[in-house]
Amino acid sequence: MTVTTAWLADLQDALGADGVLTDPDVTAGYARDMAMMAPAGTPAAVVLPRTTADVVAVMQVATRHGIPVVPRGAGSGLAGASNAVDGAITLVMNRMDAVLEVSPEDRLAVVQPGVVNKTLRDAVAGHGLFYPPDPSSYDWCTIGGNLSTNSGGLCCVKYGVTTDYVLGLEVVLADGRVLRTGRRTVKGVAGYDLARLFVGSEGTLGVITEATLALRPAPHRPVTLAASFGTTAQTGQVVERVVTSGLVPSLLEVMDNTCIVAVDDLLRAELDRGAHSLLVAQSDAGGEAADRRDRGAGADLPRGGR
Ligand SMILES: Cc1cc2nc3c(=O)[nH]c(=O)nc-3n(C[C@H](O)[C@H](O)[C@H](O)COP(=O)(O)OP(=O)(O)OC[C@H]3O[C@@H](n4cnc5c(N)ncnc54)[C@H](O)[C@@H]3O)c2cc1C
Repeated sequence: MTVTTAWLADLQDALGADGVLTDPDVTAGYARDMAMMAPAGTPAAVVLPRTTADVVAVMQVATRHGIPVVPRGAGSGLAGASNAVDGAITLVMNRMDAVLEVSPEDRLAVVQPGVVNKTLRDAVAGHGLFYPPDPSSYDWCTIGGNLSTNSGGLCCVKYGVTTDYVLGLEVVLADGRVLRTGRRTVKGVAGYDLARLFVGSEGTLGVITEATLALRPAPHRPVTLAASFGTTAQTGQVVERVVTSGLVPSLLEVMDNTCIVAVDDLLRAELDRGAHSLLVAQSDAGGEAADRRDRGAGADLPRGGR
């Protein structure tokens, strides 16, 4: 016999049967993210809103009945932050996946939270624009998840992380009230910066239902340099030289030997497996890039760059 509790009936009334999943075989797939060591409970229901009004309804029902809510994007997190707690509503934002606006004039995009990072990057590229935050999971993680974890990837050395691109947010608070905060302008200095308060808050302060994000002009095609070194000190000296000489690489990443061997085992990339460390650098500065590569690496690298 199926027992439908009052709060589940309320949710089904608000979102329709296909927006509220309770089959344990299905809901188990939403119980945890990619952090396999983090504990995860069992959600009582997985709810898939399509609109801000749906999210409002969910939060009102949850507050009325005292049910915990765990927002979830793609579940690519590595900290267990979207893992369910027993008896919770897991609120999966993937169906709210529209790029609502791309404005080359204002150099911004307005998106729903379920938009995948790569989808946004591809959408703005057609306008000669660039959305820089680049977690390595960019081809499947969502903007809502990026905002809530303040994601950033390899290009953060030049372009920063998600918080550097947030102009405004729409957020549904725990009791179902809708907060719109932030701006569409480059400058916005009046009042509290509530939009950034939500960035990195891992879903604890509210459910992000819309984001206004700053864009940049598309950069030039990057030039890449990889150099291997015999000691950590040598690697550090080269990084110091790059930074103090005023160069602004668009990527600067050091891998130690354990990492080099692991990556080479996986990708068969013909890395220098004997190297103590590997430095990967990129410049997207266009015509100057090759010159920057040569100035950054130089012919006097302690051990063969390539
Ligand atoms: C192979 C791999 C590589 C990765 N590389 C990077 C990297 O380079 N840099 C990096 O920062 N991270 C990286 N990550 C971690 C992860 O991809 C990011 O944290 C990503 O931003 C999570 O997005 P998501 O959509 O999967 O969110 P989820 O994992 O589903 O959720 C993450 C958090 O956001 C909250 N949340 C999601 N949507 C909303 C919303 N609409 N409103 C409020 N809260 C919400 C959740 O409750 C949870 O707290 C990587 C993960 C993998 C598996």
